[in-house]
Amino acid sequence: MLSFPLFRFINAAGGTEGGPSCKMRRFFETARVAWGVAASRGPGGRRAAWLLLALLVACDSTPDLESGATSTVIAAGTPFPCQAPVLTFQDMGGYNGYAEHCWFDVDIAAPKRPVAGCEGVQRYGRRKLSASPLPPAPSDAIAPLALAELQEGVDQFVIHFDVCVNSRRCFEVLHDHRGLSVHFLLDLDGTVYQTLDLRERARHATIANDRSIGIEIAHIGAYAKVEELEKWYTVDAEGRRFSGAGLEQGLRTPGFIARPARAERFVGNYNGTVVYQYDFTEAQYRSLVALTRTLCRIFPKLRLEVPRDGSGAVRTEALSPAEFQAWSGLIGHHHIQKNKTDPGPAFDWDRLIKEAR
Ligand SMILES: [Zn+2]
Repeated sequence: MLSFPLFRFINAAGGTEGGPSCKMRRFFETARVAWGVAASRGPGGRRAAWLLLALLVACDSTPDLESGATSTVIAAGTPFPCQAPVLTFQDMGGYNGYAEHCWFDVDIAAPKRPVAGCEGVQRYGRRKLSASPLPPAPSDAIAPLALAELQEGVDQFVIHFDVCVNSRRCFEVLHDHRGLSVHFLLDLDGTVYQTLDLRERARHATIANDRSIGIEIAHIGAYAKVEELEKWYTVDAEGRRFSGAGLEQGLRTPGFIARPARAERFVGNYNGTVVYQYDFTEAQYRSLVALTRTLCRIFPKLRLEVPRDGSGAVRTEALSPAEFQAWSGLIGHHHIQKNKTDPGPAFDWDRLIKEAR
């Protein structure tokens, strides 16, 4: 549920700190302040305080990490329910891909080390949909894409890993440094950040940008050398955990420990490179399942399938131009570009497809 600006502000003030315990703290803190004011104004004031508290509870849209309470994703200005903790670009505590300045260095407008062609202050563009009847025109001279146009023209969901310690760092690299963008970031603790309305053309996967939605999953990546992979992990009494420096900074869940959902080390040959990788977190799979389900409901052309080879195994090499053109559904970055290996051998496509049905 979307909420009024005041409540959204109050929600977000807690949302930047953490999950349920933070929510409870926020409620009692608000109750304490409201009651203090009311007590000085007699019975009428106390009635008003109860009403205010009831409204706060009813309007609280802060995603709850443990219960997976419903939040929303935004497509063409329309909110759609999603059973994952989502903070959008409209929420305090979220990341706003519309910002025409560096997010962590607001005095600087343009990206600091832009990819060629991404030097401007706007880090996204307007989709050119093959199904769109609109003629080419300057982006400020035409109306934003409507939901029906999007539903007609968007048919791919591109899965990436971000090779960053967490989503905060990923947004900093994309937005502040490279002039790039992506619709969703999925953090280690399962928090989903929507940085742009899905109507926008995000810059994440070259030839797929016009027709796709993209997600960068927080994950340190897949490596050709085992020792390069192992240096990012430590082993404690409960097993392996990701231990990249600074991973806790910006994470919504205080003290979250990022463990691979499955213990084994995965290996695979992706576009001619053999790479090793540990799994994504359980919280990430749960949120990705919920988000994928929501996207498939919004976009009827988005099939819940991934490119496979003749034996039925998930393809580990890029599609040909004709195969790419014909493909509608989930797709890995490595299916699009020959120089990519993400989301890598540990990514459990079959689980995602099975559970998102
Ligand atoms: Zn990628």
